Amino acid sequence: GEKTHRHFIRQAIDADLASGRFDGVRTRFPPEPNGYLHIGHAKSICLNFGLAQELGGTCNLRFDDTNPTKEDTEYVDSIQEDVRWLGFQWDNLHFASDYFDQLYQWAEKLVMEGHAYVCDLTAEQTREYRGTLTEPGRDSPGRSNTPEENLDLLRRMKAGEFPDGAKTLRAKIDMANPNINLRDPVMYRISHVPHHRTGDKWCIYPMYDWAHGQSDSIEKITFSICTLEFEHHRPLYDWYCEKLEIHHPRQIEFARLNITYTVMSKRKLLQLVQEKHVSGWDDPRMPTIVGLRRRGYTPESIRAFCADIGVAKFNSTIDVVRLENAVREHLNEVAPRRMAVLDPVKLTITNWADHGSPVEMMSAINNPGDESAGSREIPFSGSLWIERDDFKEEAPRKFFRLKKGGAVRLRAGYIVDCHDVVKDDDGNITEILCTYDPETKSGEDTSGRKVKGTIHWVSCDHASEVTVRNYDRLFSVENPDNVPEGKTFLDHINPDSLSTTKAYVEPALCEAKVGDRVQFERLGYYVVDPDSKDGEMVFNRIVGLRDTWAK
Ligand code: ATP
Ligand code: MG
Ligand code: MG
Repeated sequence: GEKTHRHFIRQAIDADLASGRFDGVRTRFPPEPNGYLHIGHAKSICLNFGLAQELGGTCNLRFDDTNPTKEDTEYVDSIQEDVRWLGFQWDNLHFASDYFDQLYQWAEKLVMEGHAYVCDLTAEQTREYRGTLTEPGRDSPGRSNTPEENLDLLRRMKAGEFPDGAKTLRAKIDMANPNINLRDPVMYRISHVPHHRTGDKWCIYPMYDWAHGQSDSIEKITFSICTLEFEHHRPLYDWYCEKLEIHHPRQIEFARLNITYTVMSKRKLLQLVQEKHVSGWDDPRMPTIVGLRRRGYTPESIRAFCADIGVAKFNSTIDVVRLENAVREHLNEVAPRRMAVLDPVKLTITNWADHGSPVEMMSAINNPGDESAGSREIPFSGSLWIERDDFKEEAPRKFFRLKKGGAVRLRAGYIVDCHDVVKDDDGNITEILCTYDPETKSGEDTSGRKVKGTIHWVSCDHASEVTVRNYDRLFSVENPDNVPEGKTFLDHINPDSLSTTKAYVEPALCEAKVGDRVQFERLGYYVVDPDSKDGEMVFNRIVGLRDTWAK
């Protein structure tokens, strides 16, 4: 449904458009290509692209690639794929590294105007000189260089005359400012590391704050939406734009998305991959977009989730159940129903010989909520698989599945009456013996009989055997980041987050292709995994039919 309440970012935009501060909405999504995107990024993507769509503006995809040591083209490619998969298309594709020349020219301008200087302090000294919340900082000796000295030193930094860390370029702002970000922040650092796009051209690289706002400005962004931790960087964002006298976007901060039973930082996700706690970035238990996709999440459900949680000014943690509900709701509408038996026991119809033919094709509707999904044929025979826990030899009165001496309807089939069981030497049930009632065929029932339960089944001779990967949450506690001394988030990995079983499925499922999503009736939603091979299909459990997570 359409939200009538406008969130605070939308209100700020409306106000700036009304006052004439900006003539339109131009946003951007600015990932650093140092990992795969996760569900937190999806929130930012939905927000930035969504606002542009809603308000007739534009949204750029910009790679914030200013830190060559951790960046890689693998990530550049995956990020583009993920944004498209989520259903968005950028107006322009940019790389912050394309602005390195412009940024450098601007740095020389600030140097010449006395707003920046070259500093000889080491990283450790710089930190120490910066002071604390209660103590003002101390001046670096470089602060008293002349503009000419600074320009010479900056050019020699750029030319590669100095080793890594020997010097920095710093903005000359205010060493006593209560906001520590304004105590002469570093603009450039020396790093003799090749860049994934500019190669060996540069050995000085811009710091985030020096690159980000100026990149926004070059692209004529109007609303630079970022997460809350940048709130205290906003005065610096504004300072650079003012001193350079360039187009000045408005930075607006919102709360990061955190989700229960999940870690969200790229560093931790990378660790899970590198230390092989998961099979890769696209492991179906990962909160990455590629992981969610492989798990069977739909782009629609992720967008619905992001719309549902909204945007806030304060950090909070969202219950993962809301994400699971989003995909459950969408798949309930669109996923075709199929029958699959995960923990099989044989059901034999002892009077099937009277039926006349060994197989009867049954018609089953594909989606009770969607007539246009049509129906399919399923072979029914005298030898079926049903779920082991759909039968009890002796059952309480309220057990509405099958029991000895009881009756149940087989979905899209007949009512069967159980008269006996066969057991092995250990007393385990190996076969359930029933009779079928010919008057009770689904859709053509003339018997007038009523039974309370309906169970699913597949015909033994017609079923295919497949592998099912039942996924559960990767962490066993709500907040895996909350750990006692000496422990890490890895100590909270759920050892039972994956269990693999064989299953028997109805023949129609053999036609399913990688990525197809279905509802296994009465069990949950499943997707065909890319590991599937001809005749060896693999299904991933996306989510159960209900929220059954035991707390
Ligand atoms: P991480 O800490 O996971 O590495 P990041 O913020 O460093 O994330 P970026 O690639 O810089 O990752 O993020 C690109 C954009 O996505 C930024 O605008 C950032 O604010 C936003 N973003 C990242 N994580 C989240 C989150 N959990 N919730 C909302 N937005 C996020
Ligand atoms: Mg970042
Ligand atoms: Mg990061």
